[in-house]
Amino acid sequence: MMRSKNPIHVPFKQIDVWNNFSKRLLSAPEVELFLDYDGTITPIKLTPSEAVLSPDTIQIMRELLNLPQVRVTMVTGRSMKDIRSILPFEDIRIVANHGFHMYLDGKEWIHPDAELSVPDMQHIKEELQHLLEPYKGVFVEDKKYTLSIHYRNALVKDIPEITKTTQKTALSFNEKFIVTEGKEVVEIRPPVNWGKGHAVSKILKSHKYPALSLKVYIGDDMTDEDAFQVLKSTGITIHVGKSNETTAQYYVGGVDEVLQILKMIIKLRAHTSGGRIKS
Ligand SMILES: [Mg+2]
Repeated sequence: MMRSKNPIHVPFKQIDVWNNFSKRLLSAPEVELFLDYDGTITPIKLTPSEAVLSPDTIQIMRELLNLPQVRVTMVTGRSMKDIRSILPFEDIRIVANHGFHMYLDGKEWIHPDAELSVPDMQHIKEELQHLLEPYKGVFVEDKKYTLSIHYRNALVKDIPEITKTTQKTALSFNEKFIVTEGKEVVEIRPPVNWGKGHAVSKILKSHKYPALSLKVYIGDDMTDEDAFQVLKSTGITIHVGKSNETTAQYYVGGVDEVLQILKMIIKLRAHTSGGRIKS
C-alpha cells in the first residue's frame, strides 16, 4: 500500500491548509462528511460503553445534520444496535460493523456474506469465551456479523496469547475468515474483502452525481485506512493523531481538533447553498 509519509497537520495555525480547505468547503455544491465514532468524535475509553458523546458534541452533530446539502455518515466498527443506542439522532446515516451493516436514508443493508457467517460467528464466540476465560480483562463482544476481542484491560504479558488464540480459533472454523487488529482489539470478520472503504464507495456510487460533492473523511484507526485510500485523490482525508502509517492527507491532534473542524464546516456551510453564497 502506498503511504503518504508526511500528512500535514491541520490546525488553524496553518493558514494555507485552512484557506484551501475553506475554499473547497464553500464552493462544493454538496458535502459528504464521513465521521468515525470512537477516537474521532469521542475519546476512547476503557470500555466501549463509557464512550458517550458530550452535550457539546451532540449539539455540533445536530447542527451538522441540519445543514443543507451536507450529508453526514457515521462510520464505525460498532454494531448497528450499539451505535444506534448511543446516537440521539433519528436521521443520521450509519455505516456499522466496518461496513457490513448500513442504514442509509431509512433503508437497512447487510452484506450477504456477513449474513451467511452468523452461525459460525456464534460458534467462534462461544469457543473464544471458553478459551479466553483464564485471561483477566478480556472481553468478547458479539456484534452479530463480526466479533471484537477487547484486550485493553488485559495483562500485557497475556496479549500475544490472546491474539494467537483468537486467530487460531477463527481460522479453525473458516480459514478464510479475516482477523484484523485495531486499537487494543482483535476482530473477526466474514470471509470477504470488505471494509469501511468499500462501504464508502458503495454509498458514493449510489448517488446520482457523485462528482458534485466534496468528500471529507475523519478517522483515527487502522480500519479507516481503506476509506482514506478510496478518497485520497478526490476528497479531504484527516487522521486523528499523528501517524506515519496513514494514507490520510492531513492529521489533527485529537478529538478537540476534530470538533473545531466540524464547527468550521458548520460556520462555512451555514451560509452557502449549493455552492452559492447567500447574500
Ligand atoms: Mg475509531
